[in-house]
Amino acid sequence: MTNKIRYFIANWKMYGDLGSLKSIKNVIKFSRLSKSKKFKIIYCPPYTLLSDFVDTLKKSSIETGAQNIHENYDFGAHTGFINSKMLKNLGVKYVIIGHSENRTLGEDHKQINKKILSAIKSKLNVIFCIGETSFQRKNKKTNIILKKQIMNGLKGIGKKCKIIVAYEPVWSIGTGVVPNNLELEKNIKFIKSIISKKFNNYKILYGGSVSPNNIKKLNMIDLLDGYLIGGASQSSKNLLI
Ligand code: PEP
Repeated sequence: MTNKIRYFIANWKMYGDLGSLKSIKNVIKFSRLSKSKKFKIIYCPPYTLLSDFVDTLKKSSIETGAQNIHENYDFGAHTGFINSKMLKNLGVKYVIIGHSENRTLGEDHKQINKKILSAIKSKLNVIFCIGETSFQRKNKKTNIILKKQIMNGLKGIGKKCKIIVAYEPVWSIGTGVVPNNLELEKNIKFIKSIISKKFNNYKILYGGSVSPNNIKKLNMIDLLDGYLIGGASQSSKNLLI
């Protein structure tokens, strides 16, 4: 295990209400008391809780992120949507873009790229999700898919921008199945080989069924800068793996 700071990003998806704020109190306490400052915690709750999270976390080292944005930077007639400027104005620091659950709903490379450009313009930190499906993996298309997602999603983004890439194999999200370390390391190396040519400042995370059961093994991969955690992040006990 390395000495570097590891990210723990909690993706709460469409879960949580005002009562859930109680559960983050333990995490705040933990981050205050912990002597090792080798972690960075970011909560991405649903939009309805963003303001409360920003407020509750403001005196801690924990930061808040959103789970998506509209692709347009400018305000406009888009019922039900939120843009990067609105999040920035609220005190949100991060945004997840390109999550496979949104790609499945039809979000394409072009929209993802526009969202990333908009987020950067608003000075939000981007958590860019990529990953292959089980079908693509079986057909040995993983590298082709990952490269396509990276090249299209990050088109036109300056070398100096900070990018967090979350490698999330679609077949691993919410299934309890995690790639073995050999496969994961190979894919992370591949992602790094592309990203390192495009950016000076980047992090590469893994996401997909991370839990207290597999974190020790995953931590053995030095190349990893942390985790994007869905299901397990709902419980403060599990997030502090
Ligand atoms: C996710 O959806 O970003 C995710 C990683 O989910 P889970 O941890 O539940 O697989």
